[in-house]
Amino acid sequence: MKTFCGRANPTTGSMEWLEEAEDYDYHQEIARSRYADMLHDKDRNVKYYQGIRAAVSRVKERGEKAIVLDIGTGTGLLSMMAASAGADFCYAIEVFKPMANVAVKIVEKNGFSDKIKIINKHSTEVTVGPDGDMECRANILVTELFDTELIGEGALPTYEHAHKYLVQEGCEAVPHRATVYVQLVESKRMWSWNKLFPIHVEAEDGEKIIVPPSEMENCPGVPSVCDIQLNQMPSRDFTTLSDVMTMFSVDFSKPVQSASTCYRVQLEPVKSGKAQIVLSWWDIDMDPTGMINCTMAPYWVKPTSALQWRDHWMQCVYFLPNEEPVLQGEKVYLTACRDEYSVWYKLQKAREEENKADVCVESPVCRCHAHLLWNRPRFGELNDQNRTHQYIKSLRKVLNTDSVCLCISDGSLLPVLVHCLGAKQVQCFILVFRSLQCSLAFFSANHLEDKIKVLEARPELLKPSHFEDKKISVLVGEPFFSTSLLPWHNLYFWYARTAVTSHLSSNVTVLPQSASLHMMIVEFQDLWRIRSPCGICEGFDVQTMDDMIKDSLNFRESKEAEPHPLWEYPCKSLSDPQEVLTFDFRKTVPQHCLSTEGSVNLLRKGRSHGAVLWMEYHLDADTSVSTGLMQISNEKGNCEWNPHCKQAVYFFSSVIESETLSDPGAVTYAIKFDTKTGEIAMDFKL
Ligand code: SAH
Repeated sequence: MKTFCGRANPTTGSMEWLEEAEDYDYHQEIARSRYADMLHDKDRNVKYYQGIRAAVSRVKERGEKAIVLDIGTGTGLLSMMAASAGADFCYAIEVFKPMANVAVKIVEKNGFSDKIKIINKHSTEVTVGPDGDMECRANILVTELFDTELIGEGALPTYEHAHKYLVQEGCEAVPHRATVYVQLVESKRMWSWNKLFPIHVEAEDGEKIIVPPSEMENCPGVPSVCDIQLNQMPSRDFTTLSDVMTMFSVDFSKPVQSASTCYRVQLEPVKSGKAQIVLSWWDIDMDPTGMINCTMAPYWVKPTSALQWRDHWMQCVYFLPNEEPVLQGEKVYLTACRDEYSVWYKLQKAREEENKADVCVESPVCRCHAHLLWNRPRFGELNDQNRTHQYIKSLRKVLNTDSVCLCISDGSLLPVLVHCLGAKQVQCFILVFRSLQCSLAFFSANHLEDKIKVLEARPELLKPSHFEDKKISVLVGEPFFSTSLLPWHNLYFWYARTAVTSHLSSNVTVLPQSASLHMMIVEFQDLWRIRSPCGICEGFDVQTMDDMIKDSLNFRESKEAEPHPLWEYPCKSLSDPQEVLTFDFRKTVPQHCLSTEGSVNLLRKGRSHGAVLWMEYHLDADTSVSTGLMQISNEKGNCEWNPHCKQAVYFFSSVIESETLSDPGAVTYAIKFDTKTGEIAMDFKL
């Protein structure tokens, strides 16, 4: 037996369905899936139900039997809605086997087994005919195959195939249509996620400027979508240069073409400025009249009272290949190009209008290597002047003309900083992991190609000859590694430091000298929904789904923390932040485990949804950099998080509610860092 599992291809960004042996550990996939979030999305569910009822009625009014095709049925929800609305029969297709199994159970529990047939296949494998999966073609097509970018989960090829082989001509589709909207903006904050800004360094011998390689200037970047909770982006962080424009629509009731194409709109900027970013979102009309509309429009476009929080559909940030000055009232053309799975944008001045051949650009391919190495938050982090300043301040204290420096971090600018700060004699070695080409381009843009020696070896394989038989006097790291998912994965620095111990001088300075793990109990405004059981959804019992998620969460003996960029997910602190573990980089990684136990008092009333954990790096005795909490901004406990990093969130299996301040309670914890596996296990009791 085989199980199908969906994966995003890291190179193309497209969705792949891979066959895995049945013992494949799909629990992780279920535990972290977005099904719960979708089931909590009231606005979506209500509108789907309305749209489905209307479609069934239209078919019935024509005197036809209502035969539904539900592609990607998940829990079976939309098919159950159709059956309740009077559909005669539903074919519910689900490619992910564990989900298809759950759908069978849910459909049975809700009493629809005679009306709904669950088919565990990819829709393109489904057959129609007397001996086929479906007896006949359907006349109602219901799907929910959309991601934040609309088409990223393969909706277009799926629709294209369904219209050719699985549904009748003139079928009703729910949703009936999707429309993609765009707005042109200038935003230093968002632009800093895509380009590296010059870095100004105050050195002993005057100010120096570190510049990015010129290839980065016009580099179109990578096609993977940048999806964020745009509603958390304060209006002071961007300037809108255009009105909201309709970019393109797709009518799902007619044959759909998935082949690459372009759409173009004329814009008249409402303001002069630098066009850098295209913000984009979509809406879906559940019926042909457009009366049942479900929109992802951000807060400045629609009244906040109408905002439905959801994490499975957000908004997109697209970066133009280069920034383009625009003048108020002076028309420009914005082109959206798409292939089967992704969308990208290009802006053209009116005078280039004739040049249509040039318009349908190819999918962006990063030429400067930086976009392959650094993701968007990492660009933001490298552009964070405050952070850079902390490193400069600290490096300045330790570097001198005799320094022999080794830098251990992925795609780091530290060696360049070291060089700017130190006198010419500084010997600088950099251990590169995945960042060779990008690092080299960077060094050469700053005329340092022969000043910094790149070592392409695993730390444990380094020999004295790699360091020209010198001992390292300064070992630096940010630390940052692109393979890190959870905050403590960057402790790889400690392991690499341990592996190079024999090359360090006896009085070596290690920067950062240590790290600490911090923890705080929080109440989330919304994020709790993604891991919270749903029970009944629009009158249908979906508890079997909740149980499956719970099983998957319990599957590993220890529950795991998961990474989330908390600047996008407001929460308030219920306890003081607490330092729970420290890691001394001046020493090697110990053989024994590091563990701690204790309790934190809850100081505010609220619902304890979970614990947030993050790392702080202590560059020296008085300089620290936090990758988590920046500050608690008011007496209500609202938290401000480092906007460039993901924090670890450990959701409690049950929520405690402290109503009164007199007895707010406490949370006890046990946290263990296994130095053998590098894993952190944790347990909390409320
Ligand atoms: N319809 C459900 C679930 C939507 S999630 C709801 O609205 O609540 C989308 C589901 O579609 C996922 O379970 C995914 O596994 C499945 N899927 C995506 N593309 C598919 C395809 N072409 N054929 C079959 N299943 C597909």
